[in-house]
This record gives sequence, structure tokens and C-alpha cells, in this order.
Amino acid sequence: MVSGPGGVGKGTIVAELVQRDPRLWLSRSWTTRQQRVGEPDSAYEFRTRPEFEQRIADGGFVEWTEFLGHYYGTPVPAPDEGADIVLEIEVDGARQVKALRPDAVLIFVLPPSRDEQERRLRERGDPESNVDARLRKAEDEEPIGRALADHIVVNDALDDTAERMLAIIDQARAQQTA
Ligand code: 5GP
Repeated sequence: MVSGPGGVGKGTIVAELVQRDPRLWLSRSWTTRQQRVGEPDSAYEFRTRPEFEQRIADGGFVEWTEFLGHYYGTPVPAPDEGADIVLEIEVDGARQVKALRPDAVLIFVLPPSRDEQERRLRERGDPESNVDARLRKAEDEEPIGRALADHIVVNDALDDTAERMLAIIDQARAQQTA
């Protein structure tokens, strides 16, 4: 699981990880939030609230939560044989997954600085009120994420971050097959 505050670069990081390591399988979440301008259709399964609520009732999520007024959830995964599942998820979802699967590894990603995080959030084109709400949410999430995390990585340069995370993943694989 990859978690961390908005604007830390989680989406870019997980895309890099699955590109570099073919054994990784990226779960596509469902969300009820609006698709951002320029955001690829593949970023999420964009659904309505009734559709999401129906899937909850059907037991179709491993975990789900409400984040800043929208639902987000991980559908029960169907990965390729032998693959390792990657979830990009906020801290409440990570806590739920850890309760179900204590062997799941959580990497919590931090921005190099508050200014950098704020800059990345604004660059993404969210309305100003969303940027403020996400910054406040990030402040609330950070101590929870730190406490829950197996590893903390500061995302300064994408290449270094990806390398460090792939090393953590390899280490976890070695421990789990030992
Ligand atoms: P965003 O709106 O920025 O794409 O996502 C908001 C937050 O929801 C991020 O922290 C992201 O990692 C998290 N998130 C994305 N998918 C899921 C999911 O399936 N479950 C949970 N619990 N959080 C998710």
C-alpha cells in the first residue's frame, strides 16, 4: 500500500513502480468524486453514489471510506497469478486493509516540504477551497500514517523514490517467502 498526503506524488510513483516491476499489479479504485480536467479515464472507476452504495451492499469492496465528501474504495481484486497487489490509498483504508491482511506493507510517502506539496496541489488545478481542505486533511492524516506505516519515504526525486520503494518491496517478498 502506498499512502501519503495529497500532492505528494502518489499517482506518479505507483505508475512508475508498476512500469519498472512487472510482478506488481495496480488496483483501480472506485470513486464518486468528479474526474479532474486532464485526469486520465483510467485513474479511477468514476461512479455515482447510488452505484457505489450498491457495490458496498453487495460486498464488492475490500475496504472503502469517505474522504472530503466522496467515496473511495478498493474493489475485491482479481490480480494476475503470482502478482503482488499495489493499492494507492488514504490512511483509513490502509488501516482497514492491515486489519484484514497484517502481512500487507504500508509505505507512507511524505513531501520534501510543505511548500512543495502546496505547489503540486495547486498545479493539479483543484479549486482553491479544495486545496485548503486537502492541506488540512494532510495535517490530520500525517500522524496516523506515520504510526501505521512500515516504511516512510520522502519523495524528493521520483527516480530515487521508486528505487527505494522497489527495494522495500523486494525485502518484503523475501521475508514473506522465507
Ligand atoms: P484523490 O481525490 O486525490 O485522487 O484521492 C484522495 C485520497 O483517496 C488519496 O489519499 C488517495 O490515495 C485515496 N484513495 C484512492 N483510492 C482509494 C481507495 O480505493 N480507498 C481508499 N481508502 N482511499 C483511496
